[in-house]
Amino acid sequence: MAKSNVSVDIKDTLNKLTIEDLNLKGKRVFIRADFNVPINENFIITDDSRIRSTLPTINYAIDEGAKVILASHLGRPKGKVDPKYSLAPVAKRLQRLLNKEVIFVEDCVGPMVQNTVAKMKEGDVLLLENLRFHPGEEKNDEEFAKALSSLADYFVNDAFGAAHRSHASTTGITKYLPSAAGFLLKKEIEYLKGVVNNPVRPFVAILGGAKVSGKIGVLENLAAKVDKVIVGGGMAYTFLKAKGYEVGDSLVEPDMIDLAKRIMETLKKNNVKFYLPVDSVISEKAEQFAETKIVPNQEIPKGWKALDIGPASVKLFTLAIENAKTIIWNGPMGMFEIDAFSRGTFAIARAVADAYALTIVGGGDTDFAVHRAGVSDSISFISTGGGASLELLEGKELPGIASLTDKK
Ligand code: AMP
Repeated sequence: MAKSNVSVDIKDTLNKLTIEDLNLKGKRVFIRADFNVPINENFIITDDSRIRSTLPTINYAIDEGAKVILASHLGRPKGKVDPKYSLAPVAKRLQRLLNKEVIFVEDCVGPMVQNTVAKMKEGDVLLLENLRFHPGEEKNDEEFAKALSSLADYFVNDAFGAAHRSHASTTGITKYLPSAAGFLLKKEIEYLKGVVNNPVRPFVAILGGAKVSGKIGVLENLAAKVDKVIVGGGMAYTFLKAKGYEVGDSLVEPDMIDLAKRIMETLKKNNVKFYLPVDSVISEKAEQFAETKIVPNQEIPKGWKALDIGPASVKLFTLAIENAKTIIWNGPMGMFEIDAFSRGTFAIARAVADAYALTIVGGGDTDFAVHRAGVSDSISFISTGGGASLELLEGKELPGIASLTDKK
């Protein structure tokens, strides 16, 4: 299976300090985590995977004898205190996961927080209240960043999901403290940058999701690096339209048709093999119990829309990834939230998991699909960041990474 059999030589991917470069004993370390987890109306966390993915960094800091100060955002409280977005439930869950007391304070700056930090002992863990209760966080306000930095001796960024944002707790704070990457941040960069720039070939990219416009940057950047590109999901129909197909009422972005043509030309010039679906599951309505048909893409009638790739496309895509040594997948193959249009996405999830390759899945929907297909354990790496992982795949420099202290 994909997980354990492939090793990749990743060179020079992160020329920044990492947590292992810091001497943490007795020091106060401010760890920016991404605890932006789903919480229901009874304040129960319904998926704690983001908390779990930062545990290696937190446990390492505890073991090294640091005083561990954790901070995160949760939701969009827009600079005001809103109990709905309190991190208190995260403190409770973290306490259980660490099997250790987690001190929780109802603010993230100010004298009360300073006093609590002053009383901390080596190995203690403190969680601050939601950073976004202060308007200075998202504005990257200098005074707010300074106030955060005054709590600690070191800054460690492990919040990959927020690394594409320039906020006080992701970039502002780095002006005042030696700043290093945590284990999660490092791993995300190793896979999404290191593997992508030094892949074992054949290297295959599978892209899906609603729109071409959302994935253009990724397509353009990967076009120069991969051996094959597979496009499914809603975005495929703009490409099919560009090739002269009539696609009924399927999702098409008319203003992207020329760009789709240009991308196909670039792929051809770069000798990249390009795969589009050959058949689709179509319906007149995007509803679970609406009538559906499976048709070749030449036969999508007016009034009907393609909402999933069909079985022949699953076969084609599965064949195309069979000899892959590296696969990156971002975006579902259909409207998989509705069972009737989920088969294509789940079949591709299984095909990716079965491939004898290093497999990387980009956050959000695709992560969810891989879990629902029950194959997440067979994927080499699942990114925790939606927007941040897309920006890294576009080849952009993320401010939360660029602002960390350079390694000498
Ligand atoms: P994205 O955020 O761009 O990755 O898009 C994910 C969304 O694309 C999901 O909510 C899917 O329901 C939607 N999607 C995938 N395939 C199709 C399709 N053929 N028609 C309409 N929406 C689709």
